[in-house]
Amino acid sequence: MISLSNLPNFIQKAPTDGVWELYLDHSILSSARMCEARFWLDYVEAKESKGMISWPLAYGSLIHEQMEHYYKAQMEGKFELRKWLEFSVAKWYELRMPAYKDYPQFKSIGGFEGFVTSTTQYAEYYNRSIDNLKPIALEIPFGKAKEVPLLEDHTLYRYAPFRLYLSGRMDFIFDNGRNIGPLDHKSFSIAGKNPVLGYEVQEGMTGYVYAMDYIYKNHFAIIPGMFGRSTNILFLNFMLTKTEPDLNKKFQRIPLYKTPYQLEAWRMRQISTAAKIYQLLFEDRVPDFNAHVCTNYFHSTCPYQPVHRLGTEQDMFTILSKDFQVRQNQWNPEAE
Ligand code: SF4
Repeated sequence: MISLSNLPNFIQKAPTDGVWELYLDHSILSSARMCEARFWLDYVEAKESKGMISWPLAYGSLIHEQMEHYYKAQMEGKFELRKWLEFSVAKWYELRMPAYKDYPQFKSIGGFEGFVTSTTQYAEYYNRSIDNLKPIALEIPFGKAKEVPLLEDHTLYRYAPFRLYLSGRMDFIFDNGRNIGPLDHKSFSIAGKNPVLGYEVQEGMTGYVYAMDYIYKNHFAIIPGMFGRSTNILFLNFMLTKTEPDLNKKFQRIPLYKTPYQLEAWRMRQISTAAKIYQLLFEDRVPDFNAHVCTNYFHSTCPYQPVHRLGTEQDMFTILSKDFQVRQNQWNPEAE
């Protein structure tokens, strides 16, 4: 059980009635589902490795920064390819991408040259206005004080004596005149294979649709020109990681639809995951190990594998204090 003076940011006691309130984003929820021991170290003890961040995190940050620049310029009608390339190259070095030069993923994207080519191709492909899709908002946060409620009645389920809210941020919101939905960028590695198959049952994608539906009904639907949109959609912009001259193979934009049944079933699953987090925090349950993913945690070895393979608690503490530190910028749902 965690000390009440040392609670992570994602949980608080409601000042009005003393009920626990959890503010969980997709990363926390999926981490708790994937391996409870990792969730505990990452989000309760707030550990982070002193070494380099993983390739997916570094490359994902790079693409995120690029796309934010691209769509902000598009919304303001000020897009210039030269400026976007200059910005992208500056970010490449700022995020220290050359440090990954020996990684297979770095080689797969064609290194720096492949990155610059892909950047140019993206603008060439999407500047042609291939559909009626327009960005209408960037960086929409939800969290404390901007809640997307998942469970408000703490007496409803015996196993979930808390309130639960979804936290997060939608980077891009798009409108095609009929639908309003978030847009997410994903990479895929095999041309010709339908990339959406890997995301149809991905919890994060459904969570975005759930949040968009709530935010639209409570905020956007009252804005003139935005009445009557359907919000059961997520737009996915796929980019083939390898170099590919054919733009129709390199890029695919695929909508993903969710039914009311899927959204409600998703909500109930998040309550179930939150109940497990609640047990870990307050009911003395020991976090499970999921040994199936120690050497394949999103295609990489879990950073805690060298810790959890050790035979004594003392050895574990030694490695944890030598190779890990407490994150300075701890996750904060108020900043989401
Ligand atoms: S090494 Fe395995 S058990 Fe330990 S935190 Fe990572 S995935 Fe979980």
